[in-house]
Amino acid sequence: MRHALPLIWRKSLERYRLIGCSCENCGTDYFPPRKVCPKCRRKGKIAPKQMPTEGKVYSYSLVHAAPSGFEFEAPYHVAIVELANGVRLLTQIVDSDAAKVKIGAPVKMVFRKIFEDDCEGVIAYGYKFKAV
Ligand SMILES: [Zn+2]
Repeated sequence: MRHALPLIWRKSLERYRLIGCSCENCGTDYFPPRKVCPKCRRKGKIAPKQMPTEGKVYSYSLVHAAPSGFEFEAPYHVAIVELANGVRLLTQIVDSDAAKVKIGAPVKMVFRKIFEDDCEGVIAYGYKFKAV
């Protein structure tokens, strides 16, 4: 088993629904969620917040030599996506024409299988993005 079940459970809100957080003191959004606002430190008040599910490609790469467990998906795009609120996250781009994956391309979140350990193991799900 590559990933512990409790970790998958703890991260389910952010991976399933793109729940990040926002600092109620300065209004900055963070994803993945943090416990402390690096701008406000002790003055900050962190609260969970739904991140926008649409954004654009900030940068990308086409992966040909995939890591163990992802060989069957290669070649695939990995991108830094900038969400509508300015938050950037690393994600896989799926179900998209290669010609559509470029810097500035609009993308939206989709829910997909991330990996499975083996035929009797854990199947982890989470967000990926597709070009629109
Ligand atoms: Zn803050």
